[in-house]
Amino acid sequence: MLKIKKVDIHYGNIVAVKNISLEVKEGEIVAIIGSNGAGKSSILRGIMGLNKPHSGSIFFQGKSIVGLPPHEVTKMGIIYVPEGRHIFTQHTVQDNLLLGTYRYYFKREKKTFEKTFDQEYRRFPILLARKNQYGRVLSGGEQQMLAISRGLMGKPKLLLLDEPSLGLAPVVVKDIMKHITILNNEGVTILIVDQAAKLILEMAHRAYVLETGQIKIQGDAKEVANDDRVRKAYLG
Ligand code: ATP
Repeated sequence: MLKIKKVDIHYGNIVAVKNISLEVKEGEIVAIIGSNGAGKSSILRGIMGLNKPHSGSIFFQGKSIVGLPPHEVTKMGIIYVPEGRHIFTQHTVQDNLLLGTYRYYFKREKKTFEKTFDQEYRRFPILLARKNQYGRVLSGGEQQMLAISRGLMGKPKLLLLDEPSLGLAPVVVKDIMKHITILNNEGVTILIVDQAAKLILEMAHRAYVLETGQIKIQGDAKEVANDDRVRKAYLG
């Protein structure tokens, strides 16, 4: 579904991502783990067209997406749930979800909207209870649920999740991860980056370990989790 080949991403003189190649197959959860500044977000932003790769290629369902602006990438079905949630705090929960329908909003498929709202409110009942409240009054965990749900309103073919566990209590993180597994069982393909290495390696099919912008280890998630270097550096 997604094929990244030999991609470099630079910020001025800083080389954030060096010669990385990775792929995500339909139906998979693929995890990227790595410490602060390893380049995880840069990869996701590179896929989305938020940072144009300096070199290399990115194909989604066989089409090159390098150089496309983020809204075009979104329209193709890649939906990004950014690090730090970035919900619209001055808008209600319902309006945040409506904004997630951007990809097909202009087709005005009202029935699809209603069905998708129902699905999301069933998935996260807390969002239904808070439907008319402003985003800013939600807790961190609820904001993360809203950010994921807003992404799902866009009916992703591929969902990119950037640090969904950031700043959340362990019990909330477990709940979010449980929902991510459910989503995948529903057929959503997922590329997730997170520092909660243990949890994401447990739920992913395959994983990549990124260090200073380069992929150092890759493979089946269970094998990666059992790699001595990974256990020492990321699993404590
Ligand atoms: P974290 O887990 O802390 O979010 P990360 O693995 O997602 O880290 P990136 O945010 O991709 O890492 O950053 C990779 C490198 O690129 C870091 O050295 C970072 O300082 C640098 N970087 C990221 N964004 C910019 C930017 N806009 N301008 C300059 N340097 C940047």
